[in-house]
Amino acid sequence: MSRAYNFAAGPAALPEPVLRQAQAELLEWNGARASIAEISHRSPEFMQVAAEAEADLRTLLSVPDDYAVLFLPGGATTQQALIALNFAACGQTADYVVSGHWGKVAVKQAQAYVAANVAASGEANGFRDIPAAAQWRLSPDAAYVHLTANETIHGVEFRPEWGEIPDTGTVPVFADFSSSIASEPLDVSRYGLVYAGAQKNLGPVGVTVVIVRRDLLERAGQPRAEIFNYAAHAKAGSMLNTPPSYNWYLAGLVFKWMLAEGGVEEFARRSAEKARLLYAAIDGSDGFYRNEVAASVRSRMNVPFFLHDEALTSAFLAQADEAGLLALKGHRVLGGIRASIYNAMPVDGVRALVDFMQDFRTRQG
Ligand code: PMP
Repeated sequence: MSRAYNFAAGPAALPEPVLRQAQAELLEWNGARASIAEISHRSPEFMQVAAEAEADLRTLLSVPDDYAVLFLPGGATTQQALIALNFAACGQTADYVVSGHWGKVAVKQAQAYVAANVAASGEANGFRDIPAAAQWRLSPDAAYVHLTANETIHGVEFRPEWGEIPDTGTVPVFADFSSSIASEPLDVSRYGLVYAGAQKNLGPVGVTVVIVRRDLLERAGQPRAEIFNYAAHAKAGSMLNTPPSYNWYLAGLVFKWMLAEGGVEEFARRSAEKARLLYAAIDGSDGFYRNEVAASVRSRMNVPFFLHDEALTSAFLAQADEAGLLALKGHRVLGGIRASIYNAMPVDGVRALVDFMQDFRTRQG
């Protein structure tokens, strides 16, 4: 076995017990005499898998009954366009709080359909902080307010230390939780809609979870094909067309693994521990390593950092890879190093990284 600690941002590490179970069940699923990847999505066997995945996700995130849970293809980016089509009238204003690269992408995807108002942006500050709630220029008649709970590239996350998301009255808050969902308890009722591509904390790439308050599904939105209509997906149990069934099944295994490990409270504890270890190693390095994000919004999931001498970055990456620490190269937008430490990354993986960082620094003399 030569599996290494994988710090990839997404597709990201999956829990090893899940991969083992999937491997054991690959040829024949539970008496179906065929692989789960080979049977109809409308077969009783798959319907059972799909229902259990939804029920388990509802348990994991304490999703209230008045919210629908959808399992859709298309990734988070597709949802960024679909939310505009489904919930805003043509040209209506929608507010965007932009705290990093993905918030900008959300604006870009929506602005073909809505008047996207950037209510606040951290861009002038290199996305090292999130503007205080008091500075948000929210529109009273917005269709929704969109924010990114955790910015995967810039390593910026809404944390309690930053403050509270302001009360938006009857305007629902829509949040991209792609890179932090299920890493701590989530008060779903605070949001009109939550969406997350699976490929960080929930499973393999190819399926996206959308959790949406049912009354919002009745909004007229804009003219759109049925396949772009969330209400139609909800009515059809996410089986309007052939769903990404194997990915749905694998995500279901991840949900069961998370529940068995102790649920989101346990992952909150582990995430806090992993983040504490890694930021302490960076901050305690006398400037050898540097993270530039304001302490109150530092991400627990994606930790970007730089070496004091940029020329050392490639040696760091090559030696880390040799030491069994994979995929630490920073995103091309920022450069440097990025460690993504989602739920499937054990605390021991972060300890191994921190030890390597100290070792690397010592070797530079
Ligand atoms: N939002 C966030 C926060 C992301 O991290 C990503 C992907 N890294 C996306 C959106 C885009 O997701 P997808 O590639 O699934 O469309």
